[in-house]
Amino acid sequence: MEKNREKFVFLSHCLLNQLVRAGDSFTSGATCKLLELLSGYSVYIYQLPCPEYLFLGKRSKKTQDVWEKIPGFKEFLPSLAMEVEKRTRQLIENKDLLMIGIARSPCCAATRVYRGCKLVEGRGLWVLELEKRINFNIIEFDFKNIDESLHKIREFLKKG
Ligand code: SF4
Repeated sequence: MEKNREKFVFLSHCLLNQLVRAGDSFTSGATCKLLELLSGYSVYIYQLPCPEYLFLGKRSKKTQDVWEKIPGFKEFLPSLAMEVEKRTRQLIENKDLLMIGIARSPCCAATRVYRGCKLVEGRGLWVLELEKRINFNIIEFDFKNIDESLHKIREFLKKG
């Protein structure tokens, strides 16, 4: 029987370091609960860079259409994604890959983003760029619904 593949998790940067979140958002206990879950499994973890913080530092919340218009940001993302690909190429070989994105984030969402004042279907700009280079599964972490987010991540970690 084929041996189960090891798991490798790309974490959105703010899951470990919430101080990079836009608008000074902070959800007490979220990081601790996620780390508690991950520490119960034999799994590689890699903290992705936060594209928004690297580009603008402390900032207010912006919708995806606004980010798209910030000069230089769309050009910055491919170079950052290339760096991640280069740094992780050997580490991720033959592993089952998961990215933990962030619900509704203009850069890190997997399913829905704000464009103008509407929440519409779509991926974050950073996720789209990474997906051009790395083939991963993706689950969203929702800071407003931690228990459900942890449940989804646990299901991925448990599967053989
Ligand atoms: S969701 Fe993505 S872009 Fe936003 S703070 Fe987290 S890592 Fe940075």
